[in-house]
Amino acid sequence: MGASQYDVVVVGGGHNGLVAAAYLAKAGKSVLVLERLGYVGGAAVSEAVFPGVDVRLSKYSYLVSLLPDQLVSDLGLTVALVDRTVSSYTPMHRSGRDVGLLVDRPAGERTRQSFLDLTGSGADFDAWYEFYARMETLAQDLAPTLLEPLATAKQIESRLRDPEVLADLRELPLADFVGRSLTDDHVRGVALTDGLIGTFADLHAADGLANRCFLYHLIGNGSGQWRVPIGGMGAVSASMAEAARRFGAELTVGATVTSVAVDATGAVVTWTDESGAVQTVSADSVVSGVAPRVLDGLRGCTPSARPVGAQLKINMVLTRLPQLRSGLDPAVAFGGTLHVDQAATQLDSAYAAASAGHLPDPLPFEVYCHSLADPSILGPSEHAAGYQTLTLFGLHTPTALFDHDNDAVRTEATRLAVEGLNGILAEPLEDCLALDAAGAPCLQAASPLDVEAALAMPGGNIFHGDLSWPWAADESQTGSWGVETDVPRLVYAASGGAVRGGAVSGIGGHNAAHALLAHD
Ligand SMILES: Cc1cc2nc3c(=O)[nH]c(=O)nc-3n(C[C@H](O)[C@H](O)[C@H](O)COP(=O)(O)OP(=O)(O)OC[C@H]3O[C@@H](n4cnc5c(N)ncnc54)[C@H](O)[C@@H]3O)c2cc1C
Repeated sequence: MGASQYDVVVVGGGHNGLVAAAYLAKAGKSVLVLERLGYVGGAAVSEAVFPGVDVRLSKYSYLVSLLPDQLVSDLGLTVALVDRTVSSYTPMHRSGRDVGLLVDRPAGERTRQSFLDLTGSGADFDAWYEFYARMETLAQDLAPTLLEPLATAKQIESRLRDPEVLADLRELPLADFVGRSLTDDHVRGVALTDGLIGTFADLHAADGLANRCFLYHLIGNGSGQWRVPIGGMGAVSASMAEAARRFGAELTVGATVTSVAVDATGAVVTWTDESGAVQTVSADSVVSGVAPRVLDGLRGCTPSARPVGAQLKINMVLTRLPQLRSGLDPAVAFGGTLHVDQAATQLDSAYAAASAGHLPDPLPFEVYCHSLADPSILGPSEHAAGYQTLTLFGLHTPTALFDHDNDAVRTEATRLAVEGLNGILAEPLEDCLALDAAGAPCLQAASPLDVEAALAMPGGNIFHGDLSWPWAADESQTGSWGVETDVPRLVYAASGGAVRGGAVSGIGGHNAAHALLAHD
């Protein structure tokens, strides 16, 4: 650390903290970022997880959709994102046969035929096509508003070409919103999972929780496309860190902030460095890159409720992709998002089981292969040997299920996930897993409690808390940036907990920086 006084101290060096730091330093502010871990990036990092295996996995977050092009160009980021031509594949056992639904991007003749083969009617494809065309129009109209001060819902609606679709999404339980257009159980399930990523929600409830999660998953950057970050998620954060440094921000790692004290004149931030020494620094303003509940603790306020995490994340390295029972080429099946046990009725049963305190069986999950689209994360010998990576993201595994015995429940949840995957494979997953230096299979699972412990994400909630609708909650919030706190002009919330802040988008950081600069 070079000085004892900065214009802005950013607490937490996750990607939102880095984006805020970059914008503020670019505007001429002196900025210090304090990050407790030994590296920046938070949940957007890459790591060679398995000893002796040179494969740099996106350890937590893995796909990018919500990062706006504008932010990339404002900060001169060198982020490369590639599209996947396969959107999803849903293998299933139906009428005594192993079949599947393949959705290409864009959805063309092969997709139409796949719907026809599965449901026996061309109407299902047409309904799917129309449903997503309407959502894409909504994405195009809504995405630009995410980088502006908050408008009222009415003002937002007035900018939409198809306001009805948003009105319906706000009003109806997500199961009804989707169910009006899509009739087949598995087809519905593919759509509904976007309401459940990192969110433990009842699809039939009118509380809007799943609806908000669904909306954010479909509007990213005006297209809703989920793209593969070349080099993995660590490359995205590294580019943001590089931008922050380039504009003059100082980044300090191994710096655990222990308190943020504010008075009318500014803030004093206390932190412990890697040697355990206590340090203090003064600032005119603080930008929080940590979860709201963590910030409450640092400020000595009564902490907000612990959010609920919802997911099981499993990282794997394979010597080859396994064959599927349906016979589809694995390079196609794993080329997009592979949905397993995620039919609408299975999602309902899983929610009921988890609400009653049990792990869902079957456990609904989806699988993604990074290395098909981007082999650059493989070391030379792993690449030559044809290694592949798999990321498994399990739904409806809320934090409370793990609270009494994290190790045992994680082990059981992992067993269920592997069992589910083997249910659609023609050969056991275990035969395809690479071995690490100690001869152990390359499979690493993380529960919400593991995420909480590693990243200080309360409850292991991947968004730092429930997502909000991307507009002003009431008149008083209109014109704000959704990042303001109870200490105006002194503390701004840039993290995933800000309105519009969830996911790897940098939007929280952008908006916090703009709110702060607007008050200068
Ligand atoms: C398993 C998993 C999978 C996900 N998948 C995706 C995905 O594919 N795509 C996507 O868009 N999003 C995904 N997400 C969500 C996304 O990663 C987060 O919403 C996003 O990373 C939040 O960024 P952030 O910078 O706001 O916070 P964080 O990434 O949480 O960073 C906060 C930082 O603050 C630091 N910190 C905390 N306390 C202190 C302290 N006292 N002092 C100093 N530093 C502190 C933390 O160490 C951390 O580095 C996923 C998240 C998880 C966990």
